[in-house]
Amino acid sequence: MPTFRAPRGTRDLLPDEAARFAGLAAIARELAGRYGYRPIETPLFEQAGVFERGIGEVTDVVEKELFRLAPRTEESEAWALRPEPTAGIVRAFVQHGLHTWPQPVRLTTIGPMFRYDRPQAGRYRQFWQFDVEAIGDAGPAIDAEIVELGLRFFSEAGLTGVEVRLNSIGDPACRPGYLETLGAYYRGHLGELPALERGRLERNVLRLLDSKDPAMAALNEAAPRITDHLCEACGAHFAALRAHLDALGVGYRIEPGLVRGLDYYTRTAFEYYVAGREGQQQAIGGGGRYDGLVELLGGRPTPGIGFGLGLDRVVLVLDEQGRALEEAQSEAPDAVVVSADPDDTIGRLRVATELRSVGLRARSDLGRRKLGRQLEAAARDGAHFAVILGDEQAEGQVAVRDLKAGTQRTVEVADLGRELLRSVKQHRHGVGEG
Ligand code: AMP
Repeated sequence: MPTFRAPRGTRDLLPDEAARFAGLAAIARELAGRYGYRPIETPLFEQAGVFERGIGEVTDVVEKELFRLAPRTEESEAWALRPEPTAGIVRAFVQHGLHTWPQPVRLTTIGPMFRYDRPQAGRYRQFWQFDVEAIGDAGPAIDAEIVELGLRFFSEAGLTGVEVRLNSIGDPACRPGYLETLGAYYRGHLGELPALERGRLERNVLRLLDSKDPAMAALNEAAPRITDHLCEACGAHFAALRAHLDALGVGYRIEPGLVRGLDYYTRTAFEYYVAGREGQQQAIGGGGRYDGLVELLGGRPTPGIGFGLGLDRVVLVLDEQGRALEEAQSEAPDAVVVSADPDDTIGRLRVATELRSVGLRARSDLGRRKLGRQLEAAARDGAHFAVILGDEQAEGQVAVRDLKAGTQRTVEVADLGRELLRSVKQHRHGVGEG
């Protein structure tokens, strides 16, 4: 027999971890809703051109990391799994004519992304992002709203020490001039460039600035800075964004080397890091403005901005910071239905079904083990009550044991759901106040 394993760079989220992801997703969804971002779901795969055009051919994400799907027939299109959500969402914006909606259109999604990257801690081939996009507003106020929204998500998720790094990468008016200057600088240091970077120099010089190659660090430190080459409009936009962030009390650090890995960004670019974790060079989120993207994908010129936050890394850092999302409590059953008669599976199922129909979290123990063992298992699960089916069933009654208080009483089956629900609510209320 072959041994099957999850593909390299992917992992299974077993219930405890899946629950933590679901908890983060719930925080994200609620928060985005509070800010007026409405959910959108786009396919996990798109025509490859959506990413090639949208993200840019000469980027790590498209050149090396795109999961391409082999065409199945002569006529079928070239598809690829989404490496990030923005291009697909903008494709949907264009396809469905969302430019006719009140602008900006605020959208959010949470889901898996796919990159054929070299797997390591915090870098997976399938990973989850919380994403927001505001399409149809040139900013800079909305840029500040989005930067602050990301910070608030991290804070409500329980992360501490999150920092914003900020830059402006110009626009089609000023970036070409800057790229010339930057190209000339690197050409002057041709001998020091690693082979990959030398190859990119003439194709996409900006990529050299965010190279992960340690050999580039010193060279990039001394490189010409884009913020010294912004046109008047981009300079004013950047200054106004900073003023908005200052007014909101949002701290940030200007990071001239921050250019983001994707081609479609203009002006605002930002990333989130956790203080003291810089060595790992792993952002927990990033985003930016993409004023040319809608047009690139066939729409009319429309500005936009958004972010993608990496949920896998948030979970990783929460672990490092010793913080757990508190969901264990809510996962425990309110009641477990057990029976003295090992053959009475129908009775246990019927009572548990009844309890669930009134909204209780109820599990029936369907095994054939002894009553004492069933009760032990219920207590281990953190159940509040055990409903014990025994001889009293003949009189339409069951025993209810409060596993937390250690008390037991007899209850009419007809009243069971209502009574347990009342006790559970009272208990939750009491706990909530205490
Ligand atoms: P990017 O679009 O590359 O800036 O990605 C946005 C965020 O997604 C990053 O800041 C990470 O938190 C997360 N992310 C990107 N790539 C990966 C990956 N391969 N594995 C896990 N998280 C990732």
